[in-house]
Amino acid sequence: MRYAEIGYNLEIDLSRGSFDRVATDPRLTELHLGGLGTNAKIVWDRVPPEVEPFSPDNLLIFSTGLLCGTPAPGANRTIVSTISPQTLLMAYSMMGGFWAPELKYAGYDKVIIRGKSPDLVYLWINNDKIEIRDASHLQGKGAIETADLILQELKEPRAHVAAIGLAGENRVYFASIEQGRSSASRGGIGAVMGDKKLKAIAVRGTKDINIARPDEFIELCNEVLQYIQVRANNPIKGVPPILAGLGSPQEMAVNDEEWHTTNFAWGNARYRRKDFWTEEVEKEWTESFENARERFVSCYNCPLKCGALINVPGFSTYMMKCYSKLTYTMAAMSDLEFGLRIAQRATDYGVDAFSAPQTMAFALELYEDGILTDQDMPGMPSDTEGRFFWLLDRIVRREGIGDILANGTYWAAQQIGRGAEAYAHNNIKKHEQLPLKLGMLNPIYFLMYCTGEKINITQIEGQFPQAPFPSREDREEFVKDWIQVPDEKFKQYFVEWELRGENSIPYYPTIEATCEIVDWQEKMHYVDDSLGVCAGLSSFPLKPPYHIHNYPKFISSGAGIDMDEAGLSQVIKRNRTLVRAVNIRRGMRRMDEEPPEDHWKKRFPELEEKLLDEYYKFKGWNNQGIPTKESLQELDLDYVSEEFIQRRILTDHDEGTPSQET
Ligand code: SF4
Repeated sequence: MRYAEIGYNLEIDLSRGSFDRVATDPRLTELHLGGLGTNAKIVWDRVPPEVEPFSPDNLLIFSTGLLCGTPAPGANRTIVSTISPQTLLMAYSMMGGFWAPELKYAGYDKVIIRGKSPDLVYLWINNDKIEIRDASHLQGKGAIETADLILQELKEPRAHVAAIGLAGENRVYFASIEQGRSSASRGGIGAVMGDKKLKAIAVRGTKDINIARPDEFIELCNEVLQYIQVRANNPIKGVPPILAGLGSPQEMAVNDEEWHTTNFAWGNARYRRKDFWTEEVEKEWTESFENARERFVSCYNCPLKCGALINVPGFSTYMMKCYSKLTYTMAAMSDLEFGLRIAQRATDYGVDAFSAPQTMAFALELYEDGILTDQDMPGMPSDTEGRFFWLLDRIVRREGIGDILANGTYWAAQQIGRGAEAYAHNNIKKHEQLPLKLGMLNPIYFLMYCTGEKINITQIEGQFPQAPFPSREDREEFVKDWIQVPDEKFKQYFVEWELRGENSIPYYPTIEATCEIVDWQEKMHYVDDSLGVCAGLSSFPLKPPYHIHNYPKFISSGAGIDMDEAGLSQVIKRNRTLVRAVNIRRGMRRMDEEPPEDHWKKRFPELEEKLLDEYYKFKGWNNQGIPTKESLQELDLDYVSEEFIQRRILTDHDEGTPSQET
């Protein structure tokens, strides 16, 4: 019997209009757990680097994590993997909500989609009954509207629908997949769905999931729930609201936006407005938000409520979460009321709330500086807010200049030329980042920005405070109940960390400590992404309920796989290395691993080189960031090293230097 997982994937070939329920190999679960881990294995095996994002041979994988649908609180993530049209690397965007548990209850761990349908279709998974249905009547409909129409058509209000809007249909490189209470937004995965002419996947399931040792498992779940309550009653002092608690409900619950509006950059990720937040703004924004917010909403099996239903006059209701509350407002240098209005239209169109506003701000900056002209923008309104709506409408339809902007700032700048490249300044690996511009290089963030392959800094960070607390007493107090640390030395790293002086950034934490901190932070995200647990309860916040010490127990008692901390670390290192191997095989190298040039004012090139050198060594990668033959063999990834040698990415005797071809 299989525990926690189902043991079957649903394989769909849209070119042929066929589907198969395929049994999976339990050994792969032991090696990779599930979710992102097994997705990476499938991409490695079945998507060679010659496959372009919009090729019928590109796969689009909707995966549950190993614990999804079990009673483990917050185990509800859908991990969507494909080759991104924007980065040309492997994308693995995630969504919460209810979709993944529902897929498990229908009897599948993953839906793997290949091929392209000749006409627009949607998929209806109703337990064992699978239908590829005509979606021509849904063409051009918004993602939210599509979900409503499908539920009516199926007469199954309990189904869950993941859908694309107009942006996905038109292959906008930052198109999202929207799903009622959540969305998978990064990497342009919605464009791949649109390219396959798949408008939506509706799923309904009523089956059971087996748990290996239910009593033990439920006890662990109860401990997590109790700890969530403890944390709710004891917010962490001295950090911004978003970091004080678990999940991200604070964004929808609080109106104090001083931290975001003063620390994050406005416009095309350009300016910090340190005096922006005043009593008057707070009063006005509080009113706007409280009038618009209908109620808080949660994901499947989670006591936190990170989302809110938003209703603004003239627009239909939609769900908002986290920092998307401010991305449009700040990019347009406008107010919250505007941000809430345009976010509704953007959600229905199905675009990523980080990339879309930055792309529009980028276009307006080019226009102000004369690189784009009235000829490029015929009929554009004169006010910024009107311009944002105008640009958004054109981008999702790929009309006029919108056709170029729909490729995101990196590719649009290449196409526009005339110096536009310098305006696409906030990217990592061709992908728009959080609009942050800071003073002094932070070594921990430097490594995360360079080497993270989720290409989304908020989903790599967590666990270790972003900055030292001002006094040693506060730091000592913080570490007293820091049970989540994998090793006591992390407490010392934090206690010794000062705001100024010898033990401050950029030379403290030391290079060695920085490597360990970054590795720990990233590792926990890869655990979550393999288990399908929300990062908001694990890898993102400080002092979360899930950590390296209790996760092995969840895996052992839930999935019946004997697991201890060392074993889990090894599995996760394997998964992380395999994701890197996919991207290395697609051409990623050290030269691609850099933060946006203007992210920090004060840079330290020598230190940065050393950080990267040492981190590569720490991870078992050579000086080009390529996993060495030896480290691959240690992780049972011999097949990767063999292919690397065959492709001359590594040479036969090479443990530490790149091949000539590299
Ligand atoms: S913490 Fe928030 S985002 Fe995470 S599962 Fe719970 S409600 Fe959803």
